[in-house]
Amino acid sequence: METTAELKYFTEIISQSKHLVAFTGAGCSAESGIPTYRGEGGLWTKYDPDKFANYDYFIKDPTYFWSFFKEIRLPILEKSEPNDTHRTLARLEVEGNLKMVITQNIDGLHQLAGQKNVCELHGNTRQVVCLTCAKKMPFEEVGKKLDTEMPPLCACGGLLKPDVVLFGEALPQKVLLESWQAAQLCDTFLVVGSSLVVQPAAQIPLVARKNGAKLVIINLDPTPLDSLADLVINQKSSDVLQALF
Ligand code: NAD
Repeated sequence: METTAELKYFTEIISQSKHLVAFTGAGCSAESGIPTYRGEGGLWTKYDPDKFANYDYFIKDPTYFWSFFKEIRLPILEKSEPNDTHRTLARLEVEGNLKMVITQNIDGLHQLAGQKNVCELHGNTRQVVCLTCAKKMPFEEVGKKLDTEMPPLCACGGLLKPDVVLFGEALPQKVLLESWQAAQLCDTFLVVGSSLVVQPAAQIPLVARKNGAKLVIINLDPTPLDSLADLVINQKSSDVLQALF
């Protein structure tokens, strides 16, 4: 299918949907300057995920994790802003039938763009949790400590960790259930910027498909679920979504 026909079909599917759910991944924030894990320029081409994104390694060497966080992730996060993909999805919530954004992202940019109904599967890096007393606090409270205290500790003496799900950790059950239900209820399931290889998140589009929803995938690279989709568009998500308005 040529590009204009793809976009026309895309616009048709989205405008006919009465209950749309979006599922976003790192590609959605790539145009905000936050590197993806996979795909061109992905973090995994330069850094070892078994170290910076793995729970066991975090426990073994929290200083490595926090140093990586401070030097690589934090400066990027601090200057990142929502892009046209986040903004268009927020607009679809107000003006269209987008009921929920299920996101694998941990950057909080959907909320900064004004999205109200966001289900964060992997947590949010703008919050920190104590592994001993379970107290949660905004990242700013901890950010100041990083120059003098490495790894940063809670007032109770416990180890602090960004409130995100690392590899080796279970997803929060409530959030998983909520996204499962949203996938069962929707008539159209829109994947935006995800390689669809991280489990169990990548099962959620399948739940929607099995319940009869149309599946649309916008991603620069092919995904393992492409053959099940009603429409796959391998273009930048901001370009595709903006075609709706
Ligand atoms: P991924 O890195 O595995 O895949 C990203 C996909 O986005 C790639 O397949 C790439 O082709 C596509 N992409 C890149 N730029 C795009 C664009 N402009 N438009 C459309 N597609 C584009 O990401 P994932 O599937 O989300 O899984 C990675 C895991 O890493 C997630 O669990 C997430 O928690 C975490 N992560 C989050 C962030 C973030 O919060 N911004 C960034 C990196 C990784």
